[in-house]
Amino acid sequence: MNKLIINNLSKTYPNGVKALNNVSIEIENGMFGLLGPNGAGKSSLMRTLATLQEADSGVATLNDIDIFNQPEELRKVLGYLPQEFGVYPRITAEQLLDHMAILKGITNSKERKQLVNYLLDKVNLYEKRKKNVKSFSGGMKQRVGIAQALIGNPKLIIVDEPTAGLDPGERNRFYNLLAEVGKEVIVILSTHIVDDVHELCTKMAIMDAGRIVYQGTPQNAIDELDGKVFQRFVTREELEIFANNYAIISNKMVGGQPFIHVLSETNPENGFELVKPNLEDVFFSKINKSNVLV
Ligand code: ADP
Repeated sequence: MNKLIINNLSKTYPNGVKALNNVSIEIENGMFGLLGPNGAGKSSLMRTLATLQEADSGVATLNDIDIFNQPEELRKVLGYLPQEFGVYPRITAEQLLDHMAILKGITNSKERKQLVNYLLDKVNLYEKRKKNVKSFSGGMKQRVGIAQALIGNPKLIIVDEPTAGLDPGERNRFYNLLAEVGKEVIVILSTHIVDDVHELCTKMAIMDAGRIVYQGTPQNAIDELDGKVFQRFVTREELEIFANNYAIISNKMVGGQPFIHVLSETNPENGFELVKPNLEDVFFSKINKSNVLV
């Protein structure tokens, strides 16, 4: 069992933005969802753990590796799929993975060839191995990204916003691949998409404005809201009034009319009905309410 322990991590950028504010999380094998709105600090945390940038204070360990004091050790067991996986122009999938394997220190060419073939097969791109990565769809590029992240048997795999821009079919294939990979190692999936976490992750944290505002299982968070979420349609005019009188946790348009979820200890009456809470309710109830109405 691998264990990642993050303790009191803080980071303020030179422009004064406090991207990480005393972040502490413990993560074991399996898919871990790091959910947060844009700007929450997820990428800052992922880049810090990947040793691409330094924190101002705090400690992080992966098993017996002190990540910030032994970055070289960490990199040997890290697979990282950054938010924007830059692919080289005019290079085939096979060449790209071969190149990445050299960078990871696999010098024996026979061993490398075997590994590259294995990875291409695993991400279902073997047939396309001689094709230019540039010509790949978003989903195929992400699968190349995962393949390169798997080089060197990583114990920690970080994927930052991996499903942005994928169509539903591509997203599903990517989910399946991640779920398979995530059995034996730690996979941290950073995302602002609630469904990503809902479908894949057994444990999660919610991040907002640099802080961890929830940590646990998605189901526990949902259970905590049981009996407290009410819904109703409102008119546009009512929306403003309701916003002043109720704790609105989500607001969307359904068939052209605003439809709101509110959080309340007791039934607010007034046309509201009780609903079974979902992970989206959890997300919006934990993050800064001002995000909900914009
Ligand atoms: P997320 O990945 O959750 O969208 P980020 O970690 O990218 O969040 O950003 C957190 C906050 O830090 C945002 O306000 C962002 O504008 C700011 N930020 C991110 N990177 C930098 C940087 N290199 N310099 C200054 N501010 C940054």
